[in-house]
Amino acid sequence: MSSKTENGQRGIRISFEFFPPKSEEAETQLWNTVADLTEWEPDFVSVTYGAGGSTKTPTLSAVRRMIHETPFTTASHLTCVGATREDTHRVIDDLLATGVRRFVALRGDPPGGVGSAYQPHPGGYANAAELVLALRERGDFDISVSAYPEKHPESRDTAADIDMLKRKADNGANRALTQFFFDNDAFERYHDRVRAAGVKIPVVPGIMPIQNLTQLKRFAGACGTHIPSWLDERFEGLDEDADKRADVAADVAAEQIEDLVRRGIHEFHLYTMNRSPLVSAVLDRLNIPRKTDAREGAAA
Ligand code: FAD
Repeated sequence: MSSKTENGQRGIRISFEFFPPKSEEAETQLWNTVADLTEWEPDFVSVTYGAGGSTKTPTLSAVRRMIHETPFTTASHLTCVGATREDTHRVIDDLLATGVRRFVALRGDPPGGVGSAYQPHPGGYANAAELVLALRERGDFDISVSAYPEKHPESRDTAADIDMLKRKADNGANRALTQFFFDNDAFERYHDRVRAAGVKIPVVPGIMPIQNLTQLKRFAGACGTHIPSWLDERFEGLDEDADKRADVAADVAAEQIEDLVRRGIHEFHLYTMNRSPLVSAVLDRLNIPRKTDAREGAAA
C-alpha cells in the first residue's frame, strides 16, 4: 500500500515523541525535525527523561525550548527510579518553572538496565502509580502513563501489568501510551482485557516507524516487543536500497495504523526517533492534512 487513504477524514489524532539531544549535531537534528513536523499539528508532543535523572538538563532545556519557541503542547516525561521523593519534587518544581503542565509519569528502568532487579529507592516513589498520585496532589496536570500490550519484561504476567495500569488510572492518569508493537491482534486482546478490568482511560498505541530493522530488533528484545517474521519478509533484499526501505517502512506503519483505525482506535503516539521524513511519509499515506494544505484550501 502506498496510495493515500481516506483516514484523514476519520479524525485521527496524533502525538509525537522526541528524546533530548546529547550533542550539537543531535541538537540541530532535533530542531530541524521539530520544524518539519510542526505542519502536522499534533495534539501534543513529549520529550523523554533519562531514568535516574541522566538527561535532566537536556530534557529541561529541550522542553523549555519546545514550550516557548514552538506551537506544540508539550509534555515532559519524568521517572522516579533511583530518586528520593524530595529529588523528584525538585525536578517537578524545575519543570513547572519552565511552564510544563503535562507529564508522562514513569517508574524508569533500574540502573543495571532492563532485566536487572528493580529496587525502589527507600525514600522514593516505588512505581509510576505512586508518581501519578504525587503529581495529581501537586496540581491539575495532564498525565500520561505507560502500557504494555505485550507485557512489561519484568512483569509476572499481563494481569499484573493491567493491575498496575488500573492503579495508575485510579490515581488520576488521563491516558496510557503503549510500548511500540507490531502485532495488532495482541494489542486488541490487551485492550479488551484493560476495558474488562474497568480501566476507562484511552490506551493510545505507540507506533514505531522502522528507521532500521536490525537496530530495532536489538532494542525490541529489551522492551519485550515481538518482531513478527513478516517484517523480515517485507524488508528482505532491501539492504542496499535505502529509498525502497523507507517506502516499505512507511507502508508498514501506515498499514498498522489503518488496521487499528478499523478496530476503532483513533489516537496514535508516534516514536519519531528525532527524524521527520519517515514520520511525514506515514502521515501522508494516511491522508492526514498538513497545516499548509488548510492554508492552501482557504486561499483557493
Ligand atoms: P510501572 O508502570 O510502575 O511498572 C511497570 C510494570 O512492572 C507494571 O506494569 C507491573 O507489571 C510491573 N510492576 C511494577 N511494580 C510492581 C509491583 N509492585 N507488583 C507487581 N508488578 C509490578 N523510560 C525512561 O527512562 N525514560 C522515559 O522517558 C521513558 N518513556 C517511556 C514512554 C513510554 C510510552 C513507555 C511505554 C515507556 C517509557 N520508558 C521510559 C520505559 C519505562 O521507564 C520502563 O519500561 C520501566 O521499566 C517501567 O516504567 P513504568 O512507568 O512503565 O513502570
